[in-house]
Amino acid sequence: MAAITPLQCAKCGACTVVCPVFQAGGRESLSARGRLHLLEHLDPAQASDAYAEILSQCLLCGACSSVCSRGLDPPARFIAARKQLEKTAGCQVLLRAITQKALSNPALLAAIANLGRPLLDLLPADSGLRLRLGLPLESTILSPALPETPAEKSAPPALAYFPGCYATHLHREIGEATERIATAFTGNPPLRPKQQWCCGLAAENGGDTSTAKRLAKQNILAFARNTLPILTSCASCYSQLRRYPELLADDPAWQKKGQAFAGRLVEFSTFVAQAMETDPTFSFAASAKAHTVVYHDPCHLRFHAKITAPPREILRAIPGLRLVELANGPQCCGQGGLFHLAQPELAEKIRVRLLNQVEQAAPDLVTTTCSGCLIHIQQGLGHDPTRPEVRHLAILLAELL
Ligand code: SF4
Ligand code: SF4
Repeated sequence: MAAITPLQCAKCGACTVVCPVFQAGGRESLSARGRLHLLEHLDPAQASDAYAEILSQCLLCGACSSVCSRGLDPPARFIAARKQLEKTAGCQVLLRAITQKALSNPALLAAIANLGRPLLDLLPADSGLRLRLGLPLESTILSPALPETPAEKSAPPALAYFPGCYATHLHREIGEATERIATAFTGNPPLRPKQQWCCGLAAENGGDTSTAKRLAKQNILAFARNTLPILTSCASCYSQLRRYPELLADDPAWQKKGQAFAGRLVEFSTFVAQAMETDPTFSFAASAKAHTVVYHDPCHLRFHAKITAPPREILRAIPGLRLVELANGPQCCGQGGLFHLAQPELAEKIRVRLLNQVEQAAPDLVTTTCSGCLIHIQQGLGHDPTRPEVRHLAILLAELL
């Protein structure tokens, strides 16, 4: 039997136990092990459609990396393969396949229709939300050259703020709530540089590396006028912004800038938990509306950044609110950036498993910090008043200041 190198899959199967897609679909090709095996034997130049399908069946959640006995990072290999696919196929095969599926997904189309045209018109041409909602991505249109960043507020802020597309364009109350909380703890509103763009996560996950790099460079420039810590209120954006040094690794000058940028990032719940610890006299008001809450761990925080304790510490400190955990522990919601568009049936199975667990826990409220998870869970629960409300953690906390 041939020896296994440390970089090869040992076929141990540890990843199958934690993979939400494998658990939902039950086929070997849906696991990290199966997908890695297929990628080794499938030439993307010969089988671009099949290749795109295999690659689109991964949430990129990172659960497999967290348990891999060989220390492999399968999602990183799948992202690299998606980039390779874009090069070999000469067009955005994956994105095209996803868009086609999205257009035949009635639930998604209904959700988009619910948002209303005026809201959708607010989305910039290359917002990752366009991809997440299955709308045409106008990524061939280059963004305008960066103008000089205008002078911002005169009072010295302690933080800069990256809200992301969702809190900037669709649900501005998340951005406003985050700013109120940052102001409460630091004394001044955070600086919100005007030239920031989409974090680029959806573009990179879809294999469109050139768009992801362009957005990364624009964001680095937007925050380059100072060295303030950069607060982020979306788990997906935070995860992608941290990746900038890796994304820009082929250009040493930009990689260095990406490293400096990533070193300044502060995740929202971590910021609040640390601020509360620094000021033991601080307390949120008692929760009058909600009595029990479930915190949904976004995979981008749970597996990528390994941030799970701070949001729970915050919620446990709110008078009158009881934090309840799901019977089977934290679970993926099935959104996965573009996954729910590429694989609507699998995504629905994963979401139903989560919602069944939520139903058992019977909270008044589900809270999280990821825009993708928020949209997906809200769509799953619908507008049924007997089911729990879903709110961003910043909105919940801002109401209790
Ligand atoms: S990243 Fe998540 S969905 Fe993809 S193979 Fe790993 S565990 Fe499964
Ligand atoms: S846990 Fe790692 S080594 Fe084991 S089967 Fe999965 S990918 Fe392969």
